[in-house]
Amino acid sequence: MTDAAAPQNLLDFDPAGLAAWFDAAGEKPFRARQVSRWIHQRHVGDFARMTDVAKATRASLALRAHVSTADVIRDSTASDGTRKWLLDAGNGNAVEAVYIPEDDRGTLCISSQAGCALDCAFCATGHGGFNRNLTTAEIVGQLWHANRTLLAEGADAPWVSAGRAPITNVVMMGMGEPLANFDAVVRALRLFLDDNAYGLSRRRVTLSTSGIVPAIDRLAAEAPVALAVSLHAPNDALRDRLVPINRVHPLATLLDACVRYLDHAPRDFVTFEYVMLDGVNDQPSHARELVALARRVPCKFNLIPFNPFPGSDFRTSPRERTLAFRDVLQDAGLVATIRKTRGDDIDAACGQLAGQVQNRVKRRLASRVVPIVAHPNH
Ligand code: SAH
Ligand code: SF4
Repeated sequence: MTDAAAPQNLLDFDPAGLAAWFDAAGEKPFRARQVSRWIHQRHVGDFARMTDVAKATRASLALRAHVSTADVIRDSTASDGTRKWLLDAGNGNAVEAVYIPEDDRGTLCISSQAGCALDCAFCATGHGGFNRNLTTAEIVGQLWHANRTLLAEGADAPWVSAGRAPITNVVMMGMGEPLANFDAVVRALRLFLDDNAYGLSRRRVTLSTSGIVPAIDRLAAEAPVALAVSLHAPNDALRDRLVPINRVHPLATLLDACVRYLDHAPRDFVTFEYVMLDGVNDQPSHARELVALARRVPCKFNLIPFNPFPGSDFRTSPRERTLAFRDVLQDAGLVATIRKTRGDDIDAACGQLAGQVQNRVKRRLASRVVPIVAHPNH
């Protein structure tokens, strides 16, 4: 191994990065794949236990590298089985990862940033401000930790008995805007998809974005996973208020980006998320406007009941209005579902993830949005 000063956290590497690091140390590429399988498929972080790796390599790894995840600050389970881990992000910050067990899958909702700068009007994370981007190790670490913990506790789902990991689906719908932390997120996505790491199919990994258009194009080129777009309004006037990034990347531009994205994901569709806000965006006229927009993009709609949080100004749409809204979409031939709210009693539902965000950046919107757009790489 090389003489790097500080030990390297191997969770920070995507497959190519790990291979390059092994190569620089004079190790054969197959060693990198072997170690990757131990870490990501067997959830082993202790090199001494990697028994089919040459002894000299193991000894060298123990000196030069480590596999570490954030400490768990709180671990809570809701009455419906949804489980939330609060993970230490240093300096008083913490992020959340949420496990959602279902009969046919185990989904992990993971965070990409400590806080979020995009300030959507109805979102607890946005309300808390932005602290920093998570590293690849912190993003991947959420999946590593969840699989390892659930296995250690004797996860008994049928697919686990068949040798698969407890987490079968990953959604980047936790805290933060994943496309505003592009490089670290793409490295994590590559690991989720890699056969020597998590080996998930592209359809089992979903990234949700509020619509940073240039980064949607880059994602198409670099890791075209399933795309969810937080639409929340059918016209620019309303979306400018609810999802402020719309002032920079308005709806027409966003929908064009969705169409281009699907060129890289043939036979696929975009999921449009739409949070139902009482008296704000939930009228039949809004649904009809959506129908017109949706003609341009192969898509499905996911209507999300608004999850209130302390300090929010919105109310959840009454159930009947949400059903009527869905019916307008369905009658026009669109696929529209209403998201089941999970983990309510531990504040683990969509948009309720507040974590802990200290030293947060609370600037005016203009100064928050512009740097992200001007430098989509950062
Ligand atoms: N930043 C990304 C992903 C994280 S939010 C994005 O905005 O898409 C995941 C989803 O939860 C988004 O669709 C977001 O708009 C929605 N959401 C945010 N706050 C919510 C709330 N209070 N109730 C319901 N959904 C909410
Ligand atoms: Fe950020 Fe998404 Fe919340 Fe908007 S909805 S503030 S982009 S986390």
